[in-house]
Amino acid sequence: MHHHSEFPAYRGRMEYVCLGCDARYPHDSLLYACPECGGVFLLEDPDFPHLKEHDGAYWRDLFDARATSRNPALRGIFRYYELLAPTLDEEDIVYLGEGGTPVVEAAPALKEAVGLSFAYKNDGQNPSASFKDRGMACAFSYLKWLCRRREWEEVLTICASTGDTSAAAALYAAYVGPPVKSVVLLPKGKVTPQQLSQPLGSGATVLELPGVFDDCMKVVEHLAERYNVALLNSKNGWRILGQESWAYETAQWYGWDMAGLCVFVPIGNAGNITAIMSGFLKLKELDIIAALPRIFGVQSEHADPVYRYYAVPPQQRRWQPVSVQASVAQAAMIGNPVSFPRVRALAERFVSQGGENAFQVMQVSEQQIMDAMIAANRHGHIACTQGGACLAGLVNALAHGLVGGRERALLDATAHSLKFSGFQEMYFADAFPPEYGITPDKSLANTPQDLLPENARAGRSDAEYAKAAALALAERLQLRPR
Ligand SMILES: *Cc1c(COP(=O)(O)O)cnc(C)c1O
Ligand SMILES: [Zn+2]
Repeated sequence: MHHHSEFPAYRGRMEYVCLGCDARYPHDSLLYACPECGGVFLLEDPDFPHLKEHDGAYWRDLFDARATSRNPALRGIFRYYELLAPTLDEEDIVYLGEGGTPVVEAAPALKEAVGLSFAYKNDGQNPSASFKDRGMACAFSYLKWLCRRREWEEVLTICASTGDTSAAAALYAAYVGPPVKSVVLLPKGKVTPQQLSQPLGSGATVLELPGVFDDCMKVVEHLAERYNVALLNSKNGWRILGQESWAYETAQWYGWDMAGLCVFVPIGNAGNITAIMSGFLKLKELDIIAALPRIFGVQSEHADPVYRYYAVPPQQRRWQPVSVQASVAQAAMIGNPVSFPRVRALAERFVSQGGENAFQVMQVSEQQIMDAMIAANRHGHIACTQGGACLAGLVNALAHGLVGGRERALLDATAHSLKFSGFQEMYFADAFPPEYGITPDKSLANTPQDLLPENARAGRSDAEYAKAAALALAERLQLRPR
């Protein structure tokens, strides 16, 4: 047994910290909004400063050693246990293979077309095929811990979702089993068929509501205030903690050297960008990294409240939710992100430590998102539409001179391309409803071609049929005989 396979002995004291009024609450109950002022929370370990008793090299070595651990409780996001949720016990940790997603260098031809070196971190390679699993692994581990402490006999978990939150929540709930039961609320017709099939397959109760995500979010918030349910949206601070692991893995992958790195992240409900910024700030505070990377949020012009907020000079900024329009970046189609106060607070810290250009938000068009996703995937990537938005954001940032020189970019491919294959189909078939405003590049259309007519099998033996098909194929591809 290597010492780094052992579960850490360190325990912190997590507290909910209200971003509205600074009130603090202990972590042993489920809280989503401040009972005093209604503000959103971040979870903090007041003992975090004690971690500075070790230098950055100590932590780097520890996490590097743990990367080879065979202990399931340390295989995933809890490799970074001390930075995440150091109140949970080993027996509570749920591990379904989340985290440790690969950073894949952009194909050379794609790099050349874009004009900058970049890579994708493929968070679609998580168990439910999106980054949401990182947050759920932490939220469900906490829930197990809490159930044990409180001896609860039934916990109903509920979330509103643009598709991936419910897929992840239902998966983890199904694995944990009783006392946990999962209910998900979806905007009817606004999640992809793949995303709908996931919670159904996991056995969750799936409820659909006519409207958009923002409507569903209001419903579950109402419920969480009045009934005994566990809310699993990113308002739940435990999810944010789990999603910080994306930042830790990124830093570790690059040898803890963040100089010249520009990170592109799509913004929907703004939980992910919150988590990523929070993660990098913790690494910096412990001297695990010497410099912060630069963070670029990306939003479609059809759902861009955070972009609009930051597009004007600081003294003119005023928070204003927007009404969303149809977007292929459907997982980020949110007009009133619940984590906006978190973004504002963390962006301020980021800019004060990393300089004015350390945080910014890019706007991209629907057309750019689709063109970028198709381009990425034709070069061997597995980007979803939100991953396409990140590439479009990088292209725009280059065009505006916001990145360049010796910099390199890392794009968050937040889900697997397969979840969004319907948009690829619409692109190839030139079948987008007009509200998207997308005109496909017809030269990229790709559809299956019939090799032989439907009746070609009739009257032929298996061998004759195979020979006829091979001949038709050779003709179609104009193969030359050997
Ligand atoms: C949830 C989600 C987003 C948006 O993340 P937020 O944390 O809501 O900002 C982006 N892409 C995908 C694939 C998602 O599932
Ligand atoms: Zn408060």
